[in-house]
Amino acid sequence: MATPKFSKITQSFYSDLKTRVNSYFEEVKMSPTGNFQLFFKAVILLVVFALVYAHLVFFTPSIVLAICECVFLGGLVAAIGFNVMHDGAHGSFSKYKSINTFASFSLNILGGSSYMWNMKHNIIHHTYTNVEGVDDDIEIQPWMRMSDSQKKHWMHKYQHLYFWIFYSILYISWMFVTDYMKYFKGKIGEIKITKMKFSDHLVFWGFKAVHLVLFIGLPIYMLGFTNWLIGFLALTIFAGLILSIVFQLAHTVEHTAFVMPDGETGNIEDEWAKHQVKTTANFATHNKLISWLVGGLNFQIEHHLFPKISHIHYPAISKIIKQVCKEYGLVYNEYPRMRYALVSHISYLKHMGR
Ligand SMILES: [Zn+2]
Repeated sequence: MATPKFSKITQSFYSDLKTRVNSYFEEVKMSPTGNFQLFFKAVILLVVFALVYAHLVFFTPSIVLAICECVFLGGLVAAIGFNVMHDGAHGSFSKYKSINTFASFSLNILGGSSYMWNMKHNIIHHTYTNVEGVDDDIEIQPWMRMSDSQKKHWMHKYQHLYFWIFYSILYISWMFVTDYMKYFKGKIGEIKITKMKFSDHLVFWGFKAVHLVLFIGLPIYMLGFTNWLIGFLALTIFAGLILSIVFQLAHTVEHTAFVMPDGETGNIEDEWAKHQVKTTANFATHNKLISWLVGGLNFQIEHHLFPKISHIHYPAISKIIKQVCKEYGLVYNEYPRMRYALVSHISYLKHMGR
């Protein structure tokens, strides 16, 4: 298949949107990157993570408390991913490049790879959102069928019941399988990853080793293999589940579009920004606690249109985006509560499995 290409329009929805969002930042005299509120949140999340880790590994709590702490740590992994790593990787955490790199490296310490994330998420997912055969976020084949063009198997009939098993192993599979597959194949799906420099190889392997020591070697040495295994599974399963659900609710629900580029030319009918609005949905944007925890990933329309603006500004710019969508006759998909989006995601999976 030819590399998909979006239609180019000079006076477009996107140029109008950019002008209005830029004038908002000029008016309020604020930088579109993160502010004190975000840095404070990052420090809280990282310090609490370090304290709970130290308590678990060096002070051996009772088994019940230890499992609770591991689940809590799993939640913190997801929160650090949403709030610190995700903004850092998009270059929106701070106006300083080095601080963004530092924030994105939190993923490396937690067992992932910031290099592969940048390719998979920033480049492939953000450009070709819900484009069949390209967007890696809808590739869980053959286990799950996430769009019409994917091959149907008998077990998909039950995918709305067993999806959580695959979502739970997402984080473990990043750590031990998919990062290495991408590294050795040099590809994510059909898209080639950009050539890694010597320093990228060093970061990839160096941090995989650091993660191995911090989350496998040291805990096994301090607590024994069985205790470590129970704790490690509790942490990674909970983190994987939360990460998968939050990312899936943005695009694989009943009201989002899936796009198949023209088979010969690879052309996509819409301009890129309209495509982002049609393929994305928001949820629970009025819920302050959810917004704080998921790092604005409930404002996915804002995020997909302006990934270089920190999530801390999404509630403010969402009003502008909603208005421009209305003027251009575009549906702004939004679920008022997270549970409605979850129900819609499950119905979507059921529909795809039929
Ligand atoms: Zn993103």
